[in-house]
Parts: sequence; structure tokens; C-alpha cells
Amino acid sequence: MPLYDYKCRACNLAEQRLAGIDDRTLLCTECGEVMDRQISDDEAFRFYFNEPASEEASNAG
Ligand SMILES: [Zn+2]
Repeated sequence: MPLYDYKCRACNLAEQRLAGIDDRTLLCTECGEVMDRQISDDEAFRFYFNEPASEEASNAG
């Protein structure tokens, strides 16, 4: 799984976590508040064009 950048809503703690595609939020290790995933330029680009996910790609390997 890829590393994503997360940032806490409450204390602005930034962390990198291993996460699946559905893990948009995590809980902060410092204060227990919700952390939002920071979307990279590359990911924002894909969201923008709404490319369908390839199941074949995820099964390879
Ligand atoms: Zn926090």
C-alpha cells in the first residue's frame, strides 16, 4: 500500500501513513481528532479526469 500524507484538523500534526484507497481519514496520534488525507498533485489530476480503476492492474503481482 502507498504512503499518504495526513494532517490533523485540530492540532495540524502532519504524518505519513500506509493506507488503502478508502482510508481518507485517520485519527491523530497526538489529540485523537480526525486527520484528513492530503491529496497529491498526481492524485488530484486523476480525480479531476475521473479515470476508472483497473482491476486487472491490482491483480497483477
Ligand atoms: Zn491532532
